[in-house]
Amino acid sequence: MDIAKDVSKRATCERAHVGCILVDDKRIIATGYNGSVSGMPHCDEAGHDLVDGHCVRTIHAEANAVLQCAVYGVPLIHKDITAYCNYMPCLKCIQLLVNVGIRKIIFEDFYGKWNKEDIERLMNYKKFCDLSICRFERKSEGVFTLCGKMDEICTMLSEFSNS
Ligand SMILES: [Zn+2]
Ligand SMILES: [Zn+2]
Repeated sequence: MDIAKDVSKRATCERAHVGCILVDDKRIIATGYNGSVSGMPHCDEAGHDLVDGHCVRTIHAEANAVLQCAVYGVPLIHKDITAYCNYMPCLKCIQLLVNVGIRKIIFEDFYGKWNKEDIERLMNYKKFCDLSICRFERKSEGVFTLCGKMDEICTMLSEFSNS
């Protein structure tokens, strides 16, 4: 998780510094952070590109990690890959991760408001795609636990979204 956090420092939209690493049996096979489309200016140069209060200039960290695999020809399917993200991925990125065969996502902090319908959609990914999402909780320096119960995570997510 600390590596995902390190990667997030390269993010170019300061609304959220997001990092994602894909790990296959302790080996990091790809990294991604949220950044502008190659060749386009970054948010710190050109300002945010806001639609409904969200910056749409960047490609999300999770998508960039998957794209890195596509560009460099790293196979993902039929492997036991875990995605580590410093923030919980959005629903679109979760769909993308599921579709490249990733069944385990570990995140640390919540980000963004989720509506009830999207939380239900998330539960369906657990039910139909065998997706597991764990929350990494730091107790103190170097000490952490993993909360792997999807219903607990969904409860925390809806509390966070309503706060
Ligand atoms: Zn931005
Ligand atoms: Zn996303």
